[in-house]
Amino acid sequence: MLAHRDAPLQILIVDASPEDRMVYRRHLQYPRVGTYDVWEAETGAEGLAVCRRQPPDCVLLDYHLPDLDGLAFLTALAGVAGGAAIPVIVLSGQGNETLAVDVMKAGAADYMPKPTVSATALERAIANAVEQARLRAALEEQRRMLAQTNADLRRQHEEIRSFYHVLSHEMKTPLTVIWESVAIVLDGRAGPLTAQQRKHLHRAKDGCAQLALGLNDLLDAARLETGKLRLAPRAVAIDGVVARAVAAMVPTAQAKGVILQESIAPDLPDVWIDELRIAQVLGNLLSNAVKFSPAGGTVKVRAGHDPLRPRWVCVSVRDTGRGIEPAQRDAIFDRLYQVRTDDAGIEGGLGLGLYICRELVRLHGGEIWVESTAGQGSTFTFTLPTERAPDSPHP
Ligand code: ADP
Repeated sequence: MLAHRDAPLQILIVDASPEDRMVYRRHLQYPRVGTYDVWEAETGAEGLAVCRRQPPDCVLLDYHLPDLDGLAFLTALAGVAGGAAIPVIVLSGQGNETLAVDVMKAGAADYMPKPTVSATALERAIANAVEQARLRAALEEQRRMLAQTNADLRRQHEEIRSFYHVLSHEMKTPLTVIWESVAIVLDGRAGPLTAQQRKHLHRAKDGCAQLALGLNDLLDAARLETGKLRLAPRAVAIDGVVARAVAAMVPTAQAKGVILQESIAPDLPDVWIDELRIAQVLGNLLSNAVKFSPAGGTVKVRAGHDPLRPRWVCVSVRDTGRGIEPAQRDAIFDRLYQVRTDDAGIEGGLGLGLYICRELVRLHGGEIWVESTAGQGSTFTFTLPTERAPDSPHP
């Protein structure tokens, strides 16, 4: 609709008065011949028909038409294809503030009392209205493109997510078969083994275990993201959960020369948790703490009362490892976020561990955070409820 800047602007005058139309035409044609192509319509219906046939760059609209008033014209124009984008300058016999507000609210680009109309005023008003319409159209186009890009990205994200989900599912079955077969051979059920064969099979078994952890993380992350992970909470003594998580970490910590400690406050009430899921959180935090601690370092798990909220319990895992820079303390809980490291001794994970921890703790209604001094260690703390949340199902 909008003409190229060098082409004449197409202006439609909708006014029942031939004298007024003549005045506007003179104003428009006198100062700059060739700047405007002027079309005329005597009634609202005629004006709308022109807009439908070939949308002008701007409409000069008399408010009082024989068939429609200005507001009715603006409403009808908004219903014409592309009509809402045509700037309309409303002109009326007498200046009237209420009318001005009403027509601007109804979408007019400008309002001019007829006595104030001069060649210069009209030229300026048209230039403004056309420029505004151009900017609005450019903005609308950008918004449309952004919405399209967003929709494409969302679709691609969904495709990738579902691909990972299917892939992890599909890989679990063959992995289990490999794992079980390796276990059978290792047990000697397929015949005697040399020490060399045993060593290789142990490495294969460790690889399977690591792969299984990664696949489970991928599946959990997908379930958490889609809200499909359900908790099975019940009243549990937290000391047992901590003791079991620490015991499971002993072999890894010993192999690395890291000391494991635990401290449970006396008289802690039961927590209302899905035990397996909180064991998973503790396992993740402990595994990171040991992973990022040097030989001779200490990892300590504590459970105690939340000093700020009486009905909550705090569990923390403190290590004496490399610590986390302040800029990364929030980001490490994001999905797939990993801190780049040159330390070849530290095995990389998938960057899902802390994301899963945060989501699992949040599902319990709690919070998780980290305090750290770079180079001196980190303390990850999370809170757990001691009472059944009001909407939790009864066991
Ligand atoms: P990953 O499974 O790859 O380790 P996580 O989500 O568990 O992913 O951790 C994200 C990042 O947070 C890690 O890459 C690591 O840099 C940092 N991080 C986690 N725990 C610790 C810790 N105890 N000490 C230092 N850095 C840690």
